[in-house]
Amino acid sequence: MDLASLVRDVPDFPEPGIVFKDITPVLGDPVAFNTLIAALAEKYEDQRISKVAGIEARGFTLAAPVARTLEAGFVPLRKPGKLPWQTMRQNYSLEYGTDALEMHIDAVEPGERVLIVDDVIATGGTAFAAVELLRRAQAEVVGVVVFIELGFLNGKATLEGVPFHALVRFD
Ligand code: AMP
Repeated sequence: MDLASLVRDVPDFPEPGIVFKDITPVLGDPVAFNTLIAALAEKYEDQRISKVAGIEARGFTLAAPVARTLEAGFVPLRKPGKLPWQTMRQNYSLEYGTDALEMHIDAVEPGERVLIVDDVIATGGTAFAAVELLRRAQAEVVGVVVFIELGFLNGKATLEGVPFHALVRFD
């Protein structure tokens, strides 16, 4: 199934110059959604993943069903101030300025094998922050898997040795 053809390009969203990769047509198609989740999980079926971490907010829509598929738990990584319990925070650089991700301090045990899932990798700053949070919690980051890689931004270069996989690459 050609999932890439269902991704909708939205020019100048959320700001001028950005071509937003809108995955909602994939999420809304029962066969495409199921195919996407199975494809994201496939490489990790024999990897003894105990937690799947998803990045707010579109990452949640993919990471939670991947967690179910792998019979793993789900860990939300969220923007500052959203998680109710004690958190650890990782700042990261954006093209202009900085942002941060937070995770509950008890979300993972040391040594747990964790897979990070997101919809899109662009500059890689967000995925890098996710990897850093999990490493600081002494989890073993088994990989980062995304639906879409914006290859021209070379975001995977920020991931420094963490196995990375994208289902679709746009150049
Ligand atoms: P980055 O940190 O630059 O790799 O940006 C990745 C995050 O921003 C992901 O969580 C994506 O959901 C979102 N994102 C960045 N660029 C795009 C884009 N062109 N289309 C859709 N989402 C994007």
